[in-house]
Amino acid sequence: MLRGNLILAVCFLPLPVLAGCGATAQSNAGTAPANLQGILVTSPALLDLCTAFLEGTESVRLVVPDVVNSRDWRPTRTAIEKLQRGRLLVLSGADWEPWLQQISFPQSRLLDVSEGLEERLIHLPDVETHRHGSGGLHSHPGYVSQTWLSAGMLLQQLQALELLLAQRLPQLEPANADVNSGAARMREQLRELSAETKRLQDRWSELSLQVVSDGPEYEYLLRDLGWQSVRLHWPRGEEPSESDWQELQTALDTREDSSQALILLHAGRAESTAVKLREQGVQVVRIDLCELLDAEHSVVQRLHGNLQRLSIALDELAQP
Ligand SMILES: [Zn+2]
Repeated sequence: MLRGNLILAVCFLPLPVLAGCGATAQSNAGTAPANLQGILVTSPALLDLCTAFLEGTESVRLVVPDVVNSRDWRPTRTAIEKLQRGRLLVLSGADWEPWLQQISFPQSRLLDVSEGLEERLIHLPDVETHRHGSGGLHSHPGYVSQTWLSAGMLLQQLQALELLLAQRLPQLEPANADVNSGAARMREQLRELSAETKRLQDRWSELSLQVVSDGPEYEYLLRDLGWQSVRLHWPRGEEPSESDWQELQTALDTREDSSQALILLHAGRAESTAVKLREQGVQVVRIDLCELLDAEHSVVQRLHGNLQRLSIALDELAQP
């Protein structure tokens, strides 16, 4: 068992490749926010959910530095000491906080919004594809972490959050029932997003379409849409190589003659990659994974943006 863990740890730690465009292993440590004494969260989606629920009664902070997502974060010792002072640490779960395995944090101050939703989580044999140093590409199994790309999942997580926060911070419970409360407004927004997703699903059934995705991050959104997709293994943080383009070509070759191709492409990828895809007749839809904070847009607005881009792409494909 120990040996197995050790091998996993060795394979798991040196992942500069996953850090994003041009990022280095060092920047994965990042600079943690200075004051971490209130409610700590690990994703922009949780920041919005908790802020809506707590309505200014508690400070809510993203524990991860702005430039790195929680899945890739390797906290420094100082960062760990700061976050251990948090009153509550709210987790997204589904492997989004791998760093938590390396630090000690009292169970009584941890709150996982995916707890109880295990059967709704998506586990894949190839959730992470990367190389170590100059080694070849390979994949690791695990959960798809981006649960927040599904409005339905967010709704369930909001429900879990309300329940768990009410237990931990009982003084907040009366605000729960108020239809004008932040949580109620958030619920309404998520229901609208959910309905918007359903409308896209209905429209999709009218088209002969092959959907491809450049990685596993979209699985919760795809499930909501009822779309079957071919999942490519394009590494995060680097533009597709010759063999990656070949993987796309193989996927396109399997489609029926009449069907058109649409790819869900991580918003962070280079425009040159999108141009090359369009040249091959593939409809490109950029998806904001909402892994990093966007100071100007809420997560609901960003998810709405994703659905709008999908809707526009379907409009274009539906034109004769
Ligand atoms: Zn590996």
